[in-house]
Amino acid sequence: MTSPLLVVGSVAFDTVRTPFGSGEEVLGGSATYFSMAASFFTSVHLVAAVGEDFKDSDAAPLRERGVDLAGLTRIPGRTFRWEGEYGYDLNTAKTLRTELGVFATFRPKLAEPLRESAFVFLANIDPEIQTEVLDQVTKPRFVACDTMNFWIEGKLEALRKTLSRVDALLINDAEARQLAGEPNLVRAAAAIRRMGPSTVVVKRGEYGAIMFSEEGVFSVPAYPLESVLDPTGAGDSFAGGFMGHLARSGRLTVEGFRQAVVLGSVMASLNVEDFSLRRLARTREDEIRARYRDFQDLTGFAELA
Ligand code: AMP
Repeated sequence: MTSPLLVVGSVAFDTVRTPFGSGEEVLGGSATYFSMAASFFTSVHLVAAVGEDFKDSDAAPLRERGVDLAGLTRIPGRTFRWEGEYGYDLNTAKTLRTELGVFATFRPKLAEPLRESAFVFLANIDPEIQTEVLDQVTKPRFVACDTMNFWIEGKLEALRKTLSRVDALLINDAEARQLAGEPNLVRAAAAIRRMGPSTVVVKRGEYGAIMFSEEGVFSVPAYPLESVLDPTGAGDSFAGGFMGHLARSGRLTVEGFRQAVVLGSVMASLNVEDFSLRRLARTREDEIRARYRDFQDLTGFAELA
């Protein structure tokens, strides 16, 4: 049975430089990328705040993908801004500036129907806001979250509270090591699982993703791309594909989770092929299916005789 997805996270204006180009004050944010990717799988309800500088037309890509924006509140102040750059190693973003703007004061209030959401994604944002959203959801079936160094360094106690209440954490490798205080990734994932989430998915940029859970370890490579223009939002698009598939299929089984990791990788691989949301905005369903099949070919091999 297909369920809708609730997401809370940032909606932002990003300024991004990569060796292959740049984008100035383009639409970004963790909830934005997540919603765009997840919209290929199920209906998405976005909860976030923007400032008075955010025009209705700025949300056009989300609206065109049918994302429900009733929970996108305009409040006094400036929209969240993030400025980052990447070197030739596109795996790690260097944050140059984070301006919280309206997220410094935003107190989310869920409309009645959203309180009954079964599938919830707490995208990268202040862990106190993540918890406030979770407090309002009455009976979630599956909750996952993401975070980053900014919150690990600035709000560790609040983040630990969020982690104690989620089923899954999706996080990149450097941040998994930082959160666990442990350089070895296998040990880091085990330490994080002890903090709450029974499933930990570690995203490793061009090296793929690894999922750690009760059922053991599952690993996929990244899609071999010839052209990567802008890695911004790769993690959020991954999460959109992952959660989108789980919400659409309703199958929280070993197989379902493995498919979700592959679909997460598919959505991330599409997103990084262009700046901002451009690639996700022009994605077609058949491209998603084709890349899913490519992953099967990429990783399938025969038994030894
Ligand atoms: P990703 O590349 O998937 O890790 O996410 C990039 C997006 O995260 C960008 O569009 C940023 O606007 C957003 N972002 C960056 N820093 C933060 C932060 N501290 N809190 C929430 N969102 C952020």
